[in-house]
Amino acid sequence: MDSSEVGYMISVEEAMASIRESVQTKSPERLPLTDVLGCVLDEDVCSDLDVPQSDQSIVDGYAVCASDFAVRGIQEKPESVSVELEILEEVTAGSVPTCTVKSGQTVRLMTGVAMPPGADAVVMTEYVECREEPRHRLGIAHFPHHQQVTAGQNIMRQGRSLKRGQLVLAAGTPIGGVEMGLLAQVGCSGVRVIPRPSLAVLPTGDELMDPSLNPPPGKIRNSNGPMLVGCGRELGMQVRDLGIGRDDIDQLRRAIEEGLSADVLVISGGVSAGTRDFVPRVLADLGVRAVFHKVKVKPGKPLWFGVAPNAKQTKVFGLPGNPVSSFVCFQAFVRPALMQLAGMNQDPEWQLPTALLRDRFTAVGKRTVYHPARLCRVSEVPEIECVPWHGSGDLRALSGANALAIFPAGDTPFEIGQAVAYLPLR
Ligand code: AMP
Ligand code: MG
Repeated sequence: MDSSEVGYMISVEEAMASIRESVQTKSPERLPLTDVLGCVLDEDVCSDLDVPQSDQSIVDGYAVCASDFAVRGIQEKPESVSVELEILEEVTAGSVPTCTVKSGQTVRLMTGVAMPPGADAVVMTEYVECREEPRHRLGIAHFPHHQQVTAGQNIMRQGRSLKRGQLVLAAGTPIGGVEMGLLAQVGCSGVRVIPRPSLAVLPTGDELMDPSLNPPPGKIRNSNGPMLVGCGRELGMQVRDLGIGRDDIDQLRRAIEEGLSADVLVISGGVSAGTRDFVPRVLADLGVRAVFHKVKVKPGKPLWFGVAPNAKQTKVFGLPGNPVSSFVCFQAFVRPALMQLAGMNQDPEWQLPTALLRDRFTAVGKRTVYHPARLCRVSEVPEIECVPWHGSGDLRALSGANALAIFPAGDTPFEIGQAVAYLPLR
């Protein structure tokens, strides 16, 4: 690569800035609870009730008056203290107590049921022996060991977890499994969210074959398709696989038109300088405005980015076909765009994390290098080592990596112990 060629390329930072400027967060929508996993909440959610709704037992046990267990008189030996209480009723999950507990009485409770009036403590079932007693329908509860029963024990107070009207989840919170549970708990069956962006994936190339086939000479299996679909789904996006596109203008046009129904279309291959690299031309024919083509990044130089003239303003990324180039461009450029669309906007103050290099790194040159790397936390300070890598066709090297170490363009070598920024992958 000569320097005149570099003159046509923008830097990684410039590319990121123009992507950021071209992307707006999706408009919020009210969706049913079942559809909001992975979305970002667009409203504050408050509790419509106290949790728990009343004082409740946190164990299976017996609701008692703690005063029945107070040691009576100093002359009494502790082991002689045993308490017997009449069992008034049994309250199982889904029911409420109907009796009031007075001194000498108890109610058998299952975990989570409301405390009966009069009782102020619960003794675990494991510490209680029951015996039949003709005079009492449910028998007698015998508390054989001398035990300390303190008022309030094994009781969760009404509203201890959540008070009615209390803020449960603030707008901007990403919805994961826990949030799904909380929304259900406070009765949010529909909620306003930023919907998950849709992503269409179109791998292109006449050499590509379905992974189920044995490629003859000249052909290869389409690995970018499954890789990019996987990367999108890992981020929680709604991903559509458009199948293999060919190096044919008409076929490409049809496939790309289909892909423009998504928020983001990622095309791999066909964006370089080959005689059959038709992607930029077809995109131009379809009116997709090119924002940039070629970035000073290694791997990934031919990266293409543009915006379609449709209602969704579909963001189109043309990634170079080499698998690691495609992957790096996805992580470094497509992922931030998807996050921004999804409302997971990055704090402007946010900076990439850094780690200390474990090996010397040379040969950078005029493009920022994203090198497959392994992050290891040896002490307080994370360290990073580049994994052996045989260039942009070597996808295998990435499977041992959990980060991309970022070496800014320049000719000075990076020394052991020097801090470098990295993009976490997992
Ligand atoms: P291109 O960017 O179209 O010139 O593709 C460059 C190289 O990337 C091709 O020669 C293939 O070896 C490889 N390649 C392109 N597309 C794919 C794909 N979908 N899966 C795996 N490798 C690919
Ligand atoms: Mg190609």
